[in-house]
Amino acid sequence: MGFKSKLANTEASIFGVMSQLAQKHDAINLSQGFPNFDVAPELIDLVSHFMKSGKNQYAPMPGVPELRQAISQKHELCQETFYCPDSEITITAGATQALAAAIAALVHPRDEVIVFEPTYDAYVPLIEVQGGVAVPLELKAPHFLPDWDEVAAAITSKTRGIIINTPHNPCGSVLSQSDLEQLAEIVTKHDLYVISDEVYEHIVFDGAKHISIGSHKDLKNRTFVISSFGKTFHTTGWKCGYCLAPKELTWEFQKVHQFMVYSVHTPVQYAYAEYLKTPQNYLSIGSFYQKKRDCILNDLKGSKFTFSPASGTYFQLIDYSSFYTGTGIELAQKLVVENGVALIPLEPFYSKYSAPKLIRICFAKTNDLLKSGIQRLKMV
Ligand code: PMP
Ligand code: GLN
Repeated sequence: MGFKSKLANTEASIFGVMSQLAQKHDAINLSQGFPNFDVAPELIDLVSHFMKSGKNQYAPMPGVPELRQAISQKHELCQETFYCPDSEITITAGATQALAAAIAALVHPRDEVIVFEPTYDAYVPLIEVQGGVAVPLELKAPHFLPDWDEVAAAITSKTRGIIINTPHNPCGSVLSQSDLEQLAEIVTKHDLYVISDEVYEHIVFDGAKHISIGSHKDLKNRTFVISSFGKTFHTTGWKCGYCLAPKELTWEFQKVHQFMVYSVHTPVQYAYAEYLKTPQNYLSIGSFYQKKRDCILNDLKGSKFTFSPASGTYFQLIDYSSFYTGTGIELAQKLVVENGVALIPLEPFYSKYSAPKLIRICFAKTNDLLKSGIQRLKMV
């Protein structure tokens, strides 16, 4: 009995694969993107408080009003852009579910959606499961930013939208205002929509500013902005995120969302709403991670790897071309087995183009673990 797969070419996510391999070989896990340190006790206490005070039943379908209000205020503070809490914000089960709902709402069979390689692993399968076609374009080293002329040239009568990821996983690149202007020109000319994955919105370095795609006046009315509290508050396992979009798009999003999940974990939503009242809780996160990035880059000096510092996210790419001729997958295997450190190879982020000779470190880890991990990489 052959099951006719909708995702015949899709394999197990590399993030889970590498974490399991790290466990099997008792290696230091700098692969999958999750912090190994704890959540702020105040935030844990808030969840516990709301559980004890009876906030344990279904939340309203779009999310609890207090959290939608808090997100609206946070976004206004950081991006000077207003999203109405009542009609333009939906709380989701992490960014992944928001991506799934936005793509399901947007993509009709045979529609083309432009994605950029290296591509975060969820985008292409989510497009394909809707019967859409992902059209990959390459982010080229060393800056890993879109070539907007190539984007314009890739538009066809079937193009429905573009998926943006800024700050970018795994490259750490961040779009500038000039990128937004060029994107706006293309999408308005061709009447396209944008899904903007901004889960690392608060993790930018060296004075750079994250510019949300929704902050551009011509992009706001055609963009689903997606984010996740997992990255900002070290709570990836709580799976709570959100989607910001103009009223008409939000309703299309919610038509899917309500039957995909209906609503998400109620006490966590109340807790985040309270915690967001102190802006320092999210404004401090960039400098927190910049210290870690600087630390690993300093420790990597004198190793065989070369690098350009990431501008955002908690990932750093390092170049192995000077000493290893195999693939990133082979190197990742070797590093786990022989050196006891797990990193993420880039091949799974590519379908059309060749992966460059780079491998990804996740530095959302305690300083001790990072020190030991980098020490092991220096033995290569
Ligand atoms: N988008 C990107 C770019 C990511 O790196 C991640 C991973 N954590 C997600 C989406 C998924 O976020 P969540 O865990 O909230 O589903
Ligand atoms: N986004 C995380 C990463 O890039 C992993 C999320 C997951 O395991 N699905 O490592």
